[in-house]
Parts: sequence; C-alpha cells; structure tokens
Amino acid sequence: MLPGPNDKKNAGESFPVNEFTYLGTAARVIFGAGSLRHLEREIELLGASRALVLCTPGQVGMAQDVAQRLGARTAGLFTQAAMHVPIETARAARAQARELGADCVVAIGGGSTIGLGKAIALEAPAGSLPVLAIPTTYSGSEMTSIYGITEAGVKKTGKDPRVLPRTVIYDAELTLSLPVGLSMTSGLNAMAHSAEGLYAQDGNPIMALLAEEGIRALAAALPRVALHPQDIDARSSAQYGAWLCGIVLGNVGMALHHKLCHTLGGSFNLPHAETHAVVLPHAIAYNAPAIPAALAVLRRALGRDDPARALFDLAAQLGAPTSLAALGMPAEGIERAADLATQNPYWNPRPIERAAITELLQHAYNGQAPA
Ligand code: NAD
Repeated sequence: MLPGPNDKKNAGESFPVNEFTYLGTAARVIFGAGSLRHLEREIELLGASRALVLCTPGQVGMAQDVAQRLGARTAGLFTQAAMHVPIETARAARAQARELGADCVVAIGGGSTIGLGKAIALEAPAGSLPVLAIPTTYSGSEMTSIYGITEAGVKKTGKDPRVLPRTVIYDAELTLSLPVGLSMTSGLNAMAHSAEGLYAQDGNPIMALLAEEGIRALAAALPRVALHPQDIDARSSAQYGAWLCGIVLGNVGMALHHKLCHTLGGSFNLPHAETHAVVLPHAIAYNAPAIPAALAVLRRALGRDDPARALFDLAAQLGAPTSLAALGMPAEGIERAADLATQNPYWNPRPIERAAITELLQHAYNGQAPA
C-alpha cells in the first residue's frame, strides 16, 4: 500500500489534505530545448492559419524567426509590447489583429508580451483568438488566466478563462539570451508564486507538490545559471521550475507578499521582479509563526532549516538586489506603504499588524536579513 498523507511515518511532513477544489489548466505544453521546431505543427493543431506574432522592441529578432518558421501562416508582427500592458498598446494590437484577420496570437517573450496576448484574447469572442505562448523569462504568466491592463497609470487585473494560453512552448534555448540579472530576479519572482501558494487560503495538496518541486528546481538551477548562463541543462531546469510555479500562481490566491509587491510597485514605481526578490524572505519570516505546513515543505525544497533566511541568502548569492533602497524606494515611503498594506483588508495566514509590517518594510528597505 502506498504511504498515505496521514500515516504515522509521514506525520508532520505531509501537506494537510482537506477539502479542496482543483482546476486543471487546459494548456498543452511542449517542453524541451529546441522545441520551437514544433511551432508550425502546434499552430496547425490549433486550427489557425493567420498568426499575429507579438514581441517587445528588444525581441524583434526572435519574433522574426517565429514569423519565418510560420511562413504563410504569419499574418503580421506587432513589436511594441511593453511592461504592464498600457491600454494604448493593447488597443493598437487589437486593431492590428482585426485588420489582419488574425485567427491566433503568438506571444514570444516575458510576462509583458504574454500579457499583451492576453489583452487581445480578452476582447475577442470566446475561443476565437487562441494564444500560443513562447515564454522567454520565468514569469509564469503563460500558465495563468490572470490579465492586467494599465490605464492612466492604474493597473487593473482580472481573471478570465479566455486569456489562458492554449498552447505553451518552453524552449530553453530562447532563455540563453536573458541577461543574468533578469534571470535571477525572474526566477526568484517565480519562487515567490510557489512560496505563497503553499499557504494560500484555497491551497491544495496538488499545488503543494508542484510548489515544492518548482522551488526545489529553481533553487538548484539558478546558481548554476548565474555561473554559466549558457548551460542549457541549467536553463531547462530553471524553466521547468518556473512552469510549475506558474501553475501554482494561476490556481490559488496570493497573500501578504504579492499584496506588498503590488503596493510597492504601484506606489513607488519599483521594478516588478526585483521587488519580489527583495520582499519574499521578509514576507515568509512575517508569516512563519502561522504556516507550519508550508515551512516544512520549504525546508525540504530549500534544504535549510530557516526558509526565510535561505531565500535571503540565495538572493544575495545570486547577486539579486536585497534592499528596497537599492531599487529607488524613498525612505519616507515606508510609512505610506505600511498604511496602504494595512488599509485594505485581505486574507493572510497571520493577521496584518501595522507595527510588524512597518518593521518588515524597514528591514526590506535596509537590506537586513529577515527577522
Ligand atoms: P518582461 O516581459 O517585461 O521582460 C523584461 C525585458 O526582458 C523585456 O525588455 C524583454 O524583451 C526582455 N527579455 C525577455 N526575455 C528575454 C530573452 N530571453 N532574451 C533577451 N531579452 C529578453 O519581464 P517579466 O518579468 O517576464 O514580466 C513582467 C510582467 O509580467 C509584469 O507586468 C507582471 O505584472 C506580469 N506578470 C503577469 C503574470 C500573470 O499571471 N498575469 C505573472 C507574472 C508576471
């Protein structure tokens, strides 16, 4: 008989198995270095023949390669994807998709480009404009039905099944050019999805399995990528971890860590992945007294007794930023951020206490190890 979660031998080690709702993600995933070669087959399987290819201005070369591979199935290129999907960009891309009669969107890039693909699919009649995502960072956006669009400086996010990419091609060769700094912060950002997923209110044991394996894979792969950015095996492992962490992000609710990062990003215009890298150890330390099961998983995944300290040390080892001050946050912002973080009530395993949150932010601002 297989050991069950409630066996004595496993007591205290397994994730609690309570009632839960599990929603599988529908995406078809093609994984492996060099797997971009299957692109034409995958477009055919989608039943599409007029693809609009999306990218940022910095990734036009990759998008042109995609367009070339698709040949007559390419309807056109839109090369102006930008961080946080400005509404003007989304409108321009939607108009181009309509004018060209596109019947699918191919997004090659990070969360910004995939986010643009989602914004286009969101406005199309259900199912009429599938997204094929080719992620080149570790953001995990390709695994979620979460979209975000920024209008007049305010980013509005929502969830809609229409935006979930139908097919995802993970080809680690496309991540070789991701600068080391971005690779590290993007990878830590992915680990944050899983770490918070472990104590989500609507968490479940399936997500805990994925979160543990995702964190383990990234914690092992990122130091190797930092040393040898062209190591395709290390890049593949990092991408595998990011994929699993993305599933967790798409399936369960996030708490204090993500709330703080959105507050800091929105209020002080701090960079997305870097802010996650700085805040994560402090958020885990804050919640530690309330999350024994999550801590047990994190200890296994990170191979250390103190997961918050392990995450802090990992960020430092990887050369990622460890202080909010280094990201350009003003010192007087700490009180404002504490106000914002405590004003809107939201679920968190440990109650949100003003004084303790201020202390957390102060530590993160200074770049101190988590308390
Ligand atoms: P990004 O997509 O903004 O990319 C950062 C920069 O790196 C861009 O200039 C891009 O062109 C470049 N780049 C990406 N891959 C590259 C590669 N392989 N080689 C060279 N250059 C490369 O960064 P990101 O961190 O992936 O995405 C951040 C955005 O995604 C944010 O807006 C965030 O809110 C969003 N996001 C959304 C979700 C979701 O589920 N909706 C999840 C995570 C992130």
